[in-house]
Amino acid sequence: MNTLLQETMTKETELPPVVNNIFAPSAENPGQFELIGGRCDACDDYSFPRSEHCCHCHADTRKVSLGTDGTIYSFTVVRTKPPLELPQPYAVAYIDLEDVPLRVFCLLDPAQTGDAIIGASVRLSVGPLGVNNAGQHCLRPFFQLLLNNRDT
Ligand SMILES: [Zn+2]
Repeated sequence: MNTLLQETMTKETELPPVVNNIFAPSAENPGQFELIGGRCDACDDYSFPRSEHCCHCHADTRKVSLGTDGTIYSFTVVRTKPPLELPQPYAVAYIDLEDVPLRVFCLLDPAQTGDAIIGASVRLSVGPLGVNNAGQHCLRPFFQLLLNNRDT
């Protein structure tokens, strides 16, 4: 591994997450990341980001993994001047998660903005992307298209 790559990787791993407790390295799938959310055991409901109390029954929620994979329900490409030093253009999507009955709103991989299609399989990724509210470069979660599942 060359020195520049090592320095880049070291810097990336030192970056703070854009928000704490919204993703974590996957315990089941090394090298992958899982989305972290909340679960209400009283009414079997999930939230992302986790809300401390269930929005339906107000019971306490607990922190749970929401898994790694999902399907694009809908998406849009944003071409106006982006906030938080995001790339221009960037894409956001509603993702139906595979492991839990929840639709989440999240960024798509900026490198794949032109390739997004409704119904595509996606997997969570995490990387240096933009800045946080304090203006610091940070790690952000985004969904990547699983290219081997695409119709060609
Ligand atoms: Zn509840």
